[in-house]
Amino acid sequence: MKIECVRTYHLACKLPEPFAFSQWSYGERHAMLVEVIADGGASGWGECYGPAVVCQAAVAFYAPRLLGLDPLATEVVWHRLWQSSLDFARGGVMTAAISGIDIALWDLKGKVLGLPVVELIGGRFRDRVPCYATGMYFRDRPDDERIEQLTAEGRRYGDEGFEAMKIKVGRSIDFDLRLIAAMRDALPDVRLMADSNHAYDLPEAIRVGRALEEANFAWFEEPLAPDHYELYRQLHEKIDVPLAAGECEQTRHGFKRLLDCGGVDFVQPDIAYCGGISEALRIRAMASAAGVNVVPHAWGTMINLAAATHFLASTFVEPGRAEWPALPLEYDRTPNPLRDELFSERLVMEKGWAQVPQRPGLGVLVDPSVLKTHLLSTTELRA
Ligand code: MG
Repeated sequence: MKIECVRTYHLACKLPEPFAFSQWSYGERHAMLVEVIADGGASGWGECYGPAVVCQAAVAFYAPRLLGLDPLATEVVWHRLWQSSLDFARGGVMTAAISGIDIALWDLKGKVLGLPVVELIGGRFRDRVPCYATGMYFRDRPDDERIEQLTAEGRRYGDEGFEAMKIKVGRSIDFDLRLIAAMRDALPDVRLMADSNHAYDLPEAIRVGRALEEANFAWFEEPLAPDHYELYRQLHEKIDVPLAAGECEQTRHGFKRLLDCGGVDFVQPDIAYCGGISEALRIRAMASAAGVNVVPHAWGTMINLAAATHFLASTFVEPGRAEWPALPLEYDRTPNPLRDELFSERLVMEKGWAQVPQRPGLGVLVDPSVLKTHLLSTTELRA
């Protein structure tokens, strides 16, 4: 079997209301999908996390190197691509491009062999994965109204069946401390996490971390900038709330640096950015050796969400215990037609749980007629 064609699709849609986090705001959503087609017609779909226009160019760089390779040889293809750009790209959008291609190859392999991806990567520990709702982004409102709106949003997720959810912090210390207390008051029994998207310096992170500890939050995500490994270690020594990080990290080499600092309790590779399913499996093995659990970051379409579902369904939870809860899937609840309307076959999400697909490959299918309505640009390279 040989790779015969590589296509890319840059998709975009405008959002009804912009929303913000600690770094910038979103008024539209973009996605960059990759389709790899083998001789014989089998095709697989992947997704890149990162600036779509640049990821599309990066996939175009790799496309001629893919033609003619065996699409089932995921390990060989990964390292061929890696080697072909190693001298100038050990990370960044080039690795996001490899990620999208790799996800497409796993989807293709599953379809050719008639097996869901979860069976190809070790089998299923579970048939469904608990989800946590990611939301509580900042809308343009006065602070009092904003806090009321965010707690109401959290209650709504609780009513929908979510037992865990993640808020955004990192606006200002005063606002963040008020929000943390208000969320805990509003949702006394819910597993809450907080994500600053690397908004704090060390003294601020210590202050907010102590408030999270007191409010019994389950983790403090990206308290510090991703390159400050030593500060993570220092923060970890000073507060007891578990620390999570890694959505800005890539490859086994990046995650080795993060794990070696000894300052994180959960690592969060994005499968559409860290190097794909192949590299996420290597990161999972390294994290396991460090006694750290992997909870993928997932922000995009249902392709990335499905990849994370298969990954989590096949993940052994460290340290191992009969009653140990499964690791949760990040389920972004902000409005996004590129996640919710683009697929004719979707992940089944019910009352805060994701069913692990039984269909071959990733188990999600893009609807070509919907794809056309969001398409900004497309490329195709054929043998
Ligand atoms: Mg995050």
